[in-house]
Amino acid sequence: MDRHKEIDICGMAIDHFGMDKQVKKSVEELTELSLELIRDLSGRGNRKKIIDEMVDVEIMLSQLKRMYLPSHTDFEEFNERWMFKLNRLKNNIESERNAVDNDSPQSE
Ligand SMILES: [Mg+2]
Repeated sequence: MDRHKEIDICGMAIDHFGMDKQVKKSVEELTELSLELIRDLSGRGNRKKIIDEMVDVEIMLSQLKRMYLPSHTDFEEFNERWMFKLNRLKNNIESERNAVDNDSPQSE
């Protein structure tokens, strides 16, 4: 399915069910994924259920983007924050790796 078809279906869902219902559905799907991940961490995970819940969350995230990022400017703001946080994650990993390298006996 191409990106335009996904956007059309997400728009249909918001128009049909309404924003409030889709925001509540998003919370529900996020909770379901959280519960599956917690089950997995406790050794009772089910890969198929995790995948299904990840798909549900992706679909709801597409709808949330449509609802909360209605303009091109909003989407640019989202992308800027996405890049900032991704770069921050990379920097944190590099800092931790450098700290480990500097603490190892071979670095002395
Ligand atoms: Mg679900």
